[in-house]
Amino acid sequence: MNKTIKRKAIAFLIAMMALPASSWATGYTQTKYPIVLAHGLFGFDNIGPVEYWYGIPSALRADGAKVYVTQVAAANSTEVRGEQLLTQVRQILAVTGAAKVNLIGHSHGGPTARYVASVRPDLVASVTSVGGVNRGSKVADVLLGIAPAGSLSNAVLVSISNGLAQIISFLSGKPNLSQDALAAANSLSTAGSLKFNAKYPEAVPTSACGEGAYQVNGVAYFSWSGAKPYTNFLDVVDPALALTSLAFGSEKNDGLVASCSSHLGKVIRDDYAMNHLDEVNQTIGLVNIFETNPVTIYRQQANRLKNMGL
Ligand code: CA
Repeated sequence: MNKTIKRKAIAFLIAMMALPASSWATGYTQTKYPIVLAHGLFGFDNIGPVEYWYGIPSALRADGAKVYVTQVAAANSTEVRGEQLLTQVRQILAVTGAAKVNLIGHSHGGPTARYVASVRPDLVASVTSVGGVNRGSKVADVLLGIAPAGSLSNAVLVSISNGLAQIISFLSGKPNLSQDALAAANSLSTAGSLKFNAKYPEAVPTSACGEGAYQVNGVAYFSWSGAKPYTNFLDVVDPALALTSLAFGSEKNDGLVASCSSHLGKVIRDDYAMNHLDEVNQTIGLVNIFETNPVTIYRQQANRLKNMGL
């Protein structure tokens, strides 16, 4: 073999190895049912054209998925948001002619998706909860002034509140909490979540940090989350997440939600080295470079659903 051909052959092989294996197979994310994304608190409405699910819909569509991004009240109770999501699911079914959807919800979007699957399981193939607030958030507890007595010093409580204020201000462009945000905080508190779970118990773990049922009323349930509040020094939100993570003491958390609280149905993993915003590839792709990219995890989940015939 002459030298040039040999060099070209080696370069070709290296290029092939650099491609992720999944991109060889078209249709890797081609689920039977459309994928419907349900956002968490604050839909980033005030920071211009930046999409909440940064780079995620396009990555899923590139390999065959039909993806719909929904928009519900930025901050409101789970039931109010759930009804809004249900309306949009019906519209998506009408437009696509599909019989069901695969719901993926982040943060408050997790319980919001669960609400839809609970009241209309016939319209839902699966629910995937990402960093979902399924058993409440201690940050919401602190916000509502119902932190476990004596567990945190006043200085720490102030730090947590300041951290949360910075996050809210950054995501919503508003420095103060609205009335609706308080309704959201009630839904996201530990007490509020447990109340919601009693009414809508599908796939919620029955033990404190176990898994839930993998399938209920014909709906498959999954969850995954991060467990590292500070992951990238270039991301301006990370210091605030480090502050809010103080609410959890030594408990594993992603800055806003404890790993155990994120559990729903089949737990894919609850300890990715990601924080709550890394889970949606924010801020604008600034995530932990030493961890699997979150976009890859969404693609893997789409492939899992596809392989299940969903
Ligand atoms: Ca980040």
